[in-house]
Amino acid sequence: MQKALTWKELVHDVVSALPRDFMLADVLKYRDRFERHFPNNRFVDAKIRQSLQVLRDQGLLRFVRPGRYERTDVTPVFSPLLDFSVAAPFVSSAQIARVALETWASFNLYCLDCESDALDRLPNNTPVADFKCFVCERTYQLKAKDGRFGLRITGAAYQPTIDAIGRGEMPEHVFVEFDKRFNTVVFVDAIPGRFITADRVLPRKPLAATARRAGWQGCNITISGLPSVRVVAPAGIERSKVREEWKSL
Ligand SMILES: [Zn+2]
Repeated sequence: MQKALTWKELVHDVVSALPRDFMLADVLKYRDRFERHFPNNRFVDAKIRQSLQVLRDQGLLRFVRPGRYERTDVTPVFSPLLDFSVAAPFVSSAQIARVALETWASFNLYCLDCESDALDRLPNNTPVADFKCFVCERTYQLKAKDGRFGLRITGAAYQPTIDAIGRGEMPEHVFVEFDKRFNTVVFVDAIPGRFITADRVLPRKPLAATARRAGWQGCNITISGLPSVRVVAPAGIERSKVREEWKSL
């Protein structure tokens, strides 16, 4: 007798036939097939969602945003184009830039510390880090600028940054330099988090009592002189070369 498929195997089977980028609704279209396999299960939709979560935890999928997934088993194609239209519902230009960049990053950045070709976006309120590799668990902080970065960058909240350094958990820092006029990412460089030491972190003045986040204290980080690797350049750079260079820092 043929071995019965598990939920995870069946969901993986269905997902493998979908485009690289798909929606939860695309998987739910196969409800009939799931019901045939598991006729006694009354919670088909919940089991499908749970199985997608398991596939995500195993690095086979990632969540792009709620209800939208991406398979990680297809070699990604790099794109320097920033799509500001994904951020259309947002009002402030800072928010639009952030959403467009995070979307670009979730499609184009990859783990430098292992072979994983995808980074997952962390919830927006996560202190210090923006992305995480679910294979090796390294975290990444994304910084972006229209133009070139200087010798000093604006960091996250001061105390959580100092604490992360103390625990040896400073995320890898990725610097995205883009050109808003052409909606294009120009250069991306990365600095290993372990090189960002506490003496490079300078507290900023806490926000005034009248500010929305009164008392919140950010920091500046001096990055001049730190070793880095170039991850993206206009002519394109091979991932294996970048990883090799990263290991030698
Ligand atoms: Zn990794």
